[in-house]
Amino acid sequence: MTKQNLVEIRGLKKWFPVQKGFIERLVTRQRQFVHAVDGVNFEIRRGEVFGLAGESGSGKTTTGRLILRLVESTEGDIFFDGIDLTTLDGEGMRRMRQRMQVIFQDPFASMNPRMKTGNAIGHSLEIFDIARGEENRRRVLDMMERVGLTPASTLYDKYPHQLSGGQRQRAIIARALMLHPDLVVADEPIANVDVSVRALLLELMVQLKQDFNLTYLFITHDLATAKYICDRIAIMYLGLICEMGTLEQVYRNPQHPYTQALLAAVPVPNPHARRTAPLPKGEIPSPINPPSGCRFHPRCPIAEKICSQEIPPLQPLPGNEEHQVACHLV
Ligand code: SF4
Repeated sequence: MTKQNLVEIRGLKKWFPVQKGFIERLVTRQRQFVHAVDGVNFEIRRGEVFGLAGESGSGKTTTGRLILRLVESTEGDIFFDGIDLTTLDGEGMRRMRQRMQVIFQDPFASMNPRMKTGNAIGHSLEIFDIARGEENRRRVLDMMERVGLTPASTLYDKYPHQLSGGQRQRAIIARALMLHPDLVVADEPIANVDVSVRALLLELMVQLKQDFNLTYLFITHDLATAKYICDRIAIMYLGLICEMGTLEQVYRNPQHPYTQALLAAVPVPNPHARRTAPLPKGEIPSPINPPSGCRFHPRCPIAEKICSQEIPPLQPLPGNEEHQVACHLV
């Protein structure tokens, strides 16, 4: 693992067993699995914003949870600052979580409705025995000011339902930063807030990244949002990465038909702008029985015979190590 990388993911897989009914279990003995993540490799460099993008069901959220070990992997290695997280026991992982925090999509679901905002934000300082009482309150008020939860002394005593959507998400961001982590996994962090405050929250995240020297894993289905904040991005489809590169490479010169279709679907502020690529036809197939060969072939407008027969490896474009694509025809 090079010093440049904060996170390295190697051959990561997560297969969830399919729960069957009693009769179904008697009829079919074969166990079935949802192939949520099916062998992904990538690195997150220190100080960068690495995006994971794709439709719902692509495996991006599960990948984020695997990195934090909120779910256990089926196979593969997760290195964080040179340490293989899959080898850590409960206590080792608990200590490591001080350095890895998460911002969930739904702040309502991730805040205790009976806990006052200030107490919720400062709770981790108590759990790790870092600051209690007045010192805890002082640090929380300071963080609330920094994330724009003002007036902090008034909002400190409010319950989550007394805050606006934007304020709740700021509270979740403040809570994630209280332990001064190295990595923040932000899973659709602005998807649940009003459109009018999305840009403000993204600006805040960019500012906090500089102030706290953070590295982000930014998970999103929205390529317009990713474009605003990410340095590099990986596009996921049915548990696999189909294209990865810098923002410039992927947005200016998308090579995979799925990436091209996703980018073509991004709304543009010009009503006369013309679309150049068709949207993928049909729905994302079932991850229980993913299509053979290239998983995108049932929806791909340029698929050929080989596409349903062989899995295309993710490989660099000639003369460009950083821009990687998994497509037989590229
Ligand atoms: Fe389309 Fe074939 Fe490329 Fe898959 S490998 S994206 S099906 S052309």
